[in-house]
Amino acid sequence: MYYTCKKYYERKFDSVKREYAFLAETQKEHQLWREEARKRLVVLTGMDQCVRVEAQAECKQRTQMEGYVEEYWLMQTEPGVVLPFYFLKPDKGDQQRCPVVLNPHGHGGGKERVYREWFAVELARKGYCVVCPDERGSGERREQWQQGDEEEKRRMNSHREIQQMILGFGQCMIGLAVWDMMRLLDEITGWDCVDKDRIACAGMSGGGQQTVWLAAMDDRIKAAITSGYFYGFKDSLVSLPGNCACNFVPNMWRTMDMGDMGAMIAPRPLFVESGEKDHLEGARGLKNVYPQMEIARKAYALYGAEENLYHSVHDGGHEWRGEGMMEFLDKIV
Ligand SMILES: [Zn+2]
Repeated sequence: MYYTCKKYYERKFDSVKREYAFLAETQKEHQLWREEARKRLVVLTGMDQCVRVEAQAECKQRTQMEGYVEEYWLMQTEPGVVLPFYFLKPDKGDQQRCPVVLNPHGHGGGKERVYREWFAVELARKGYCVVCPDERGSGERREQWQQGDEEEKRRMNSHREIQQMILGFGQCMIGLAVWDMMRLLDEITGWDCVDKDRIACAGMSGGGQQTVWLAAMDDRIKAAITSGYFYGFKDSLVSLPGNCACNFVPNMWRTMDMGDMGAMIAPRPLFVESGEKDHLEGARGLKNVYPQMEIARKAYALYGAEENLYHSVHDGGHEWRGEGMMEFLDKIV
C-alpha cells in the first residue's frame, strides 16, 4: 500500500488565492498592478539580495565570421560571479545601430548550443546583434560536479545544486537568471552598435522561461518570443514535479500563474509557441495553455493590442519550430 500526498497538494493549489492575479480593468490599473507584482517577484526570487558590482566587461576574443563578428565576452554580475557570453555583431554593426535579440539557452547545454544550433547565426546575418549568455549553472558556469568536456557533461547543468544552495537565503535560480540578464542589458545598451529601443528576447524551454520572466520584469525588452514554456503551473509543475529545480519559486502558486506573467508583458508584443504533444504541458495538453493565454489576452485587450499577442501552435512535442517567428521579429523589432 502507498499513502501519497500529491492529490492533497493538487487540491491545495485549487484552494489558494493568487494574491497578484491580473484583474485590472483599465490601463492605469494594469500599470499599477504590474509595478506591485514586480516588487513582489523581486522579493520572492531573492533578487533584492543580489549585489550590484562594476561589470568590468571585457571582450576576450573577436573572430570574423561570414556576415558577422563573433565576440566572446566576460563580465561580472555580482562580486566574483562571472557571466560569459557571445555577442554576435552584424558586419554593418560598425556603421549603424542594430536591433538586438537576447537569446537565453534552455537545458541540455549552454550558450554554445543555443548559438550554434538555433537561430542566432541566421539573425546575425540578417542584421541583428545577438547575445547568447550562459545561465548560472550551465555551460562555462557549471559547478564542479558537472564540469567536463565530454558531450554528456556539456549537456548537464548545476541548476538543482545551485537552487539547493540558495533556497535557504530565500533566493532561487530564476531570480539570478533575470538579475544576470538585466546586468547584461545595462552593459550592452551603452554600446554604439546597439539600438536600445529595439531589443527582443527569444528562447525555447528553459530559454523560454528566462524570456517570460525577463520580459515581465524589465520594460527594456520590447518584444518576447517564448516556446515550450507557456503553460499553467498546476498541471505542469505541481502534477508533474519532475521538471528542473530552476522552475520552482517559493510562494509562487500563491502569487500568480503563467497567464498573469504574460499580462505583465502586455501590451508589448509576445509570441508564444506551443506543441500539441509537449509533455511538459501536462496531462491535458493544450487545455493547460489556452486558459493562460486568455488571462494574458485580457491585458492586451485593455490597450486594444490583442494583435500583439501571437499564439503559434504546432503538431509536435517539446520542440522549437519558429513558424512565423522571423516575420514577428522583422515587424516588431
Ligand atoms: Zn534548470
